[in-house]
Amino acid sequence: MNIQNRLETGSVIAAKGVFIDNEWTPSPSEKTIDVIAPATGAVVARIAAGNADDIDRAYQAARRAFEDGAWGKLTAVERGRLLTRLSRLIEDHADELTALEALDTGKPLKQARADIVSCARYFEFYGGAADKVHGETIPFLNGYLALTERVPHGVTGQIIPWNYPAQMFGRTLGPALAMGNATVMKPAEDACLTPLRLAELAVEAGFPEGAINIVPGLGEDAGAALTAHPGFDFLSFTGSPEVGTMVQIAAAKNHIGCTLELGGKSPQVVFGDVDLDAALPSLVNAIVQNAGQTCSAGSRLLVEKSAYDRIVGTVAERFAKLQAGTPEMDLDLGPVINAGQKRRVERFCHNADSDGIEIIAQGSVAKDVPEGGFYVAPKMFGHVPRDNALARDEVFGPVLSVIPFEDEADAVALANGTDYGLVAGVWTQNANRAMRVGRKIRAGQVFVNAYGAGGGIELPFGGMKKSGHGREKGFEALKDLSALRTMVVKHD
Ligand code: NAD
Repeated sequence: MNIQNRLETGSVIAAKGVFIDNEWTPSPSEKTIDVIAPATGAVVARIAAGNADDIDRAYQAARRAFEDGAWGKLTAVERGRLLTRLSRLIEDHADELTALEALDTGKPLKQARADIVSCARYFEFYGGAADKVHGETIPFLNGYLALTERVPHGVTGQIIPWNYPAQMFGRTLGPALAMGNATVMKPAEDACLTPLRLAELAVEAGFPEGAINIVPGLGEDAGAALTAHPGFDFLSFTGSPEVGTMVQIAAAKNHIGCTLELGGKSPQVVFGDVDLDAALPSLVNAIVQNAGQTCSAGSRLLVEKSAYDRIVGTVAERFAKLQAGTPEMDLDLGPVINAGQKRRVERFCHNADSDGIEIIAQGSVAKDVPEGGFYVAPKMFGHVPRDNALARDEVFGPVLSVIPFEDEADAVALANGTDYGLVAGVWTQNANRAMRVGRKIRAGQVFVNAYGAGGGIELPFGGMKKSGHGREKGFEALKDLSALRTMVVKHD
């Protein structure tokens, strides 16, 4: 597949403005944002820089759709059918969407394709779930029938990051729409071409006007305007802890709920009895996938001290063979998203080097990559001190920190020893130990002899501690994207 052939698609979409009431309209800001391809550093398109006026127009469209429009009148089964139809359309357009996603994010084509497949799967899953959300009846006083039902919040706002634009589109809009909310999305300025195209496919699928509105723009403009707008009933945010704090404060000021997904420093706890052949692909891929720019990246490799040399040696051997390249080279990883992110990753590595932390393995960047691209060679640091930034902070790049532990208690303390608590992996052939350790780790998802960086649409996903709160994916997301109403009916 030749991404260059798809450039035109990106440009055309970018020229169209903001997506409100199933139509592209120009933003009154008349400003645009350059879309830079991470693989080349070249400007490949321009998107509208939506502002507070656009957010308000999008909000009003969503409110109309919810209160009086065709969207609000649909039954659950009808909503489910629309989501399912969108899922099929995404599958039908998988080549085009894969190219667009790879162009916009720089990820290898195989990863971009997997993301489009996941996006389709989100709409398939939530299409099937829409009419299967049941309430309960509650034993109450004689002469009363008491019951609960789950109802939509109303208008929900979704602010998504640049690392998985297509997946985040499905992950946030799938459950919101299944429950009957009308939505306004603010995609990330660094990568939003796929969400803009997906909005067009939603029209083709038959979504009535106002159900899905998309306002591209800068975080401090369109994003801040969305969170501060007094009309929204619920917000979903995925991104940095700093912006997450602002979103939570804005939600509190409007007395509405929000889900926050703020990343992690996820541990892979490896005991000496690990089946290393089986574990190796997951241990490496968990940090390399999407060039380490995954909130659930397995960025800390915690290894039992007595088996440190053997296990780390094997992982290092594989790590040294990793190569970064363009999407079309389809290697182990692509570039990082932009120049700022590249500087951030390099700063972490430079500081670790200055602190005397040993690099045990380093991958490479393919020699023919374009000069302007944001490529970073993957790096693996050994014996990282527990209080070093590399052991505690989210790098969001292909950098693995290896830390030895003494015994089970030490492994648990170390696994829980950061502010984050998103995902963890425990690797051992001792089932009792796996359960003992896994159940003491404070993380929203714990895998045993497996690791799912970003995977598993069916699996509830979200943080403990400072990784955030609320759950996305699976049936749990439907609870967060709805409110519970209790009905009490008196009869003779
Ligand atoms: P960010 O938090 O600034 O951006 C995420 C989203 O929030 C984007 O859509 C952005 O436009 C929007 N936003 C920014 N400022 C806003 C504001 N004041 N009000 C409302 N919305 C706003 O993240 P970033 O700058 O793109 O990345 C910085 C770091 O965040 C990364 O290095 C990484 O550590 C982390 N990050 C985490 C995730 C994740 O999946 N948890 C995703 C992206 C970035």
